[in-house]
Amino acid sequence: MHKSTPHTDINLLEEQVKPLFSATLSGGIVNIFAACIVYILLNSTSHATNAFLLSSGIIIFSAIRIAVASHYLNKKWFTLKQYLNTHVFLTLMVGVLWALYEFMQHKPGNDAIRNIVYLINFGLITGSITTLSTYKKAYLAYMLPQVIAILSVFILIDIEESFYMVLAFSLFIGFMVATSFNISSRHKNEIELTFNNKRLISELNNEIEIREKIQLELEKSKAELEQKVKERTRELVNINTNLEQVIEKKELAEQSLQYLAYHDELTGLPNRALLINRINHSIEIAYRNKQKLGIIFLDLDRFKAINDSLGHNIGDKLIQEVSKRLLQTLRKEDTISRNGGDEFVVVIQRMSSTDEAILVGQKLIESMTNIFEIDSHKIHIGASIGISIYPNDGESALALLKNADTAMFSAKKSGGNRLQFYDESMSNRLRERLVIENELHSALDRNEFYMVYQPQVNCITGQTIGFEALLRWNSEALGLIGPHQFIPLLEETGLIYSVGEWVIKEVITFIHKGYAGDTHIAMNLSALQFGDISLVELINNEIMRTGINPSKIEFEITESLFINDFETTERFLIELHKIGCSIALDDFGTGYTSMSYLTRLPIDSIKVDQYFIRNIDTNAGLENIVKAIINMSRSLGMSNVFEGVETEAELDIIKKLGGKIIQGYLFSKPLDAEGVIEWLSSREPLTQSG
Ligand code: C2E
Ligand code: CA
Ligand code: CA
Repeated sequence: MHKSTPHTDINLLEEQVKPLFSATLSGGIVNIFAACIVYILLNSTSHATNAFLLSSGIIIFSAIRIAVASHYLNKKWFTLKQYLNTHVFLTLMVGVLWALYEFMQHKPGNDAIRNIVYLINFGLITGSITTLSTYKKAYLAYMLPQVIAILSVFILIDIEESFYMVLAFSLFIGFMVATSFNISSRHKNEIELTFNNKRLISELNNEIEIREKIQLELEKSKAELEQKVKERTRELVNINTNLEQVIEKKELAEQSLQYLAYHDELTGLPNRALLINRINHSIEIAYRNKQKLGIIFLDLDRFKAINDSLGHNIGDKLIQEVSKRLLQTLRKEDTISRNGGDEFVVVIQRMSSTDEAILVGQKLIESMTNIFEIDSHKIHIGASIGISIYPNDGESALALLKNADTAMFSAKKSGGNRLQFYDESMSNRLRERLVIENELHSALDRNEFYMVYQPQVNCITGQTIGFEALLRWNSEALGLIGPHQFIPLLEETGLIYSVGEWVIKEVITFIHKGYAGDTHIAMNLSALQFGDISLVELINNEIMRTGINPSKIEFEITESLFINDFETTERFLIELHKIGCSIALDDFGTGYTSMSYLTRLPIDSIKVDQYFIRNIDTNAGLENIVKAIINMSRSLGMSNVFEGVETEAELDIIKKLGGKIIQGYLFSKPLDAEGVIEWLSSREPLTQSG
């Protein structure tokens, strides 16, 4: 289809000769008319008979030509070649008959008629350009016989006479032929062009059709591919979910296996294997952070007897109840495990002191004191506890466990329901502590507390501006016990609340009685007390009851503010400040409180801890720190009290740095009520003179 084929050549020819056939009717009629005219002209001459024959011939052939052409145009029974050949043949016949007419004129009957005949022939030849030029053969078949005839007539008549005629005629014929050929080739070109265009268009159409087909195919296969991809993806997703399910199941199975491997079936607590893991892990952390670790080994007292008399079933239930109570007693971060039988082990992380282990151990023993009710059996049970401390009592899980076990055994031997440290000295201290604690519970009732007051002196003027009230405990059984020993115990046992209230009442009474003169009294508040907002009410009531000036009371708070949340502390101090009491920040520099928090609190003065004062005269670093504290306090609008000043040298440095208020042995140790009165009266003259 891309190259021209015989078929298209035929089509081309068909197009080319179409005008030939359609012009045959008009051409034929012109020839028939011309034949009639020429016959009429020659009828009266000697050529009449020949003219009749020739004109008849022309008319007949022309008519057949018309018939053939119209047959071709309408019916097309035969091939184009057959029609064309017939047409050309008939045209040749007409041409030859006209040629004979012209040839006849070399012996003219009449010159005028001859000229008319020639004129008619010239006209026909000229006119045939339009009707025959589209097919060269037809034109030549029509024209050539006549040209030959005319030329030979010219030559036969007289060559010399007709030279210019011949020349003119030849030029005319040449021009005619050239014109005809030109028309023919132009026509042919046009048709070819049209054809080529058509072919191009059809090729283009084919091309488009092919491309469209290809496009369609492509789209189809693309859609198929997409479908396949979708199906494949779906399959993959299915496979994936299946796989995930399988993995999940496997993980669950592994988890439950792991759980079984590391947990006690009866209580669900970690078992000994997991415990050892955890202890080793905790040891690593404690080693890195230089912390202590407490291992508490707990064994139930009398469990074997209960198990034997009430049966394993009750025994198991008892173990479950015990484990519940132990869990409730402990903090989340502590690990408790069942070591087997009636043994439990607790790991206490991040211990700052061994006291924490004691506290936890006591709580655990206490948690056992309430009766257990199991299947309507009322069971009373106790626990013996052994404690080992990392790193003191061992550096591996096994060593620590073994030593805690040993300690537990000795607790049991001493009658059970008690605590025992692995380290004997620690156990002694524990015993001591337990005794002190025991005494402390009744100290308030037995009136064993009293207050002492340490003067705070302006070292420039020598004036006593106030006293710090300090709690003392003179135990009937144990003698004088220092606050560093009993204050933490008061806090741990919660006795600090009642004893704290007693201190407040005692000091306000002291002021009310006028023992302090014009000076103020500072008292210490434990951080635990900030959580109790009703204490502010109690203070206010005491002030109202006695009618003392609230500005004579100062409260000292330490930086360990975050036992309670900051907001609670802030609220407490603001309320206290509102009453008219002032607030001092104690032991400044030893805590870790952020400055931004401190500036939010209503603090009037900062007490510089004796840690910074000790050796300040020989240590330039300390001097710089104190200088910085003084500057900071000034910029915050706070005053300073310098604690623990013992020597003149220390005082000199503080004076040099601009410090004024001193509290220290250099001036006075804490004094009892009488001592205060004496102090004030003996200092009075000095104040006045200073
Ligand atoms: P603190 O509040 O820092 O009290 C100052 C401590 O330093 C007092 O010890 C005091 O006797 C001592 N001290 C004063 N000047 C010197 C000195 O020049 N050299 C030396 N080495 N020590 C000096 P104290 O009375 O033994 O009290 C110890 C801590 O007990 C107090 O430290 C305070 O935190 C607490 N405390 C005392 N009484 C109470 C109280 O009523 N309630 C509360 N919550 N805590 C109190
Ligand atoms: Ca204090
Ligand atoms: Ca202090």
